[in-house]
Amino acid sequence: MRYAGSVSTARSRRTITTLAVLALSLAGCPKRSGGSKPRVAVSIFPLYDAARRVAGDRLDVVLVLPPGRSEHSYDPTPREMTRIAGSQLALSVGLGMDEWLSRIVRNTGSEVRVVEIGPSLDPRAMTHEEVGEEAADEAREAQSDGGHEEEHHHGPKDPHFWLDPTRMARAADIMAREFSRIDPQGAASFEQRRAQFGREMTTLDTQIRARSERWSKRTIVTFHGSMGYYAERYRLTIAAVIEPFPGREPTARYITEVLAAVQRSHAAALFSEPQLDRHPAEVIAEQARLPLFEVDPVGGTPGRDSYERLLLSNTDAFERALR
Ligand SMILES: [Zn+2]
Repeated sequence: MRYAGSVSTARSRRTITTLAVLALSLAGCPKRSGGSKPRVAVSIFPLYDAARRVAGDRLDVVLVLPPGRSEHSYDPTPREMTRIAGSQLALSVGLGMDEWLSRIVRNTGSEVRVVEIGPSLDPRAMTHEEVGEEAADEAREAQSDGGHEEEHHHGPKDPHFWLDPTRMARAADIMAREFSRIDPQGAASFEQRRAQFGREMTTLDTQIRARSERWSKRTIVTFHGSMGYYAERYRLTIAAVIEPFPGREPTARYITEVLAAVQRSHAAALFSEPQLDRHPAEVIAEQARLPLFEVDPVGGTPGRDSYERLLLSNTDAFERALR
């Protein structure tokens, strides 16, 4: 603003030259920002934590989704857009979850390579129970047609792969490869850091596995379909989800279905999530007389400010509910 104001002064010619220089240096912005480091935008905190650890100090890694927000929708403020501008690479989960990332990076006007990690990690299909309301509708239709209850319903691919540490290790492999494309001289460093991260994931996985094997109860109701990979890896059963469409309150009819599923399955506990309004979970917990706990699929907040702390804090919650 100050520059624009000074154009009207007697020294306008010199000011215009200054403006031209400023414009040129802004055009070179991606290279200049954060020293001469290429910038990488990462959609959600767990991937961001892995990316910054693999990148070390060679890349300027920025987190796009502010901690505390749901991973399923995001509209950045202009200030948040500025942080992302000039990215050369964007890393997303994919599988229909964080489409907002490509929209945002393309809006910054820079040439960005967007890499979706999820599709390369053998994504699991969501179960009938995790698809929830949609599946309940289909079952009802099948019944009213005089048809049989469908047995082999498989939902869409589950995007929440990051809650499985072994898949996170593979995600870091993809990151190291992508980082080497934008910073070939860093390849050896990325490779070494990726290997280190992989070892840390093995340790974490072993630790969670050992703890989870001691839990006496194994059936849970989660808030949205976020915990499928964790459940599969550590042998928990998800009897139902409270909000199949995260952020959209379940209908009264669907709540009845969830209550029936809780009874049928003898689920041990419900789990709300800090990013979403817990009211529907409280209603169901009260009606089903089940204890309500909280797990966090995304983290990035105090106490969950590393990937390991996020998974261990969730493991603590499951342990309190299921041991
Ligand atoms: Zn989710």
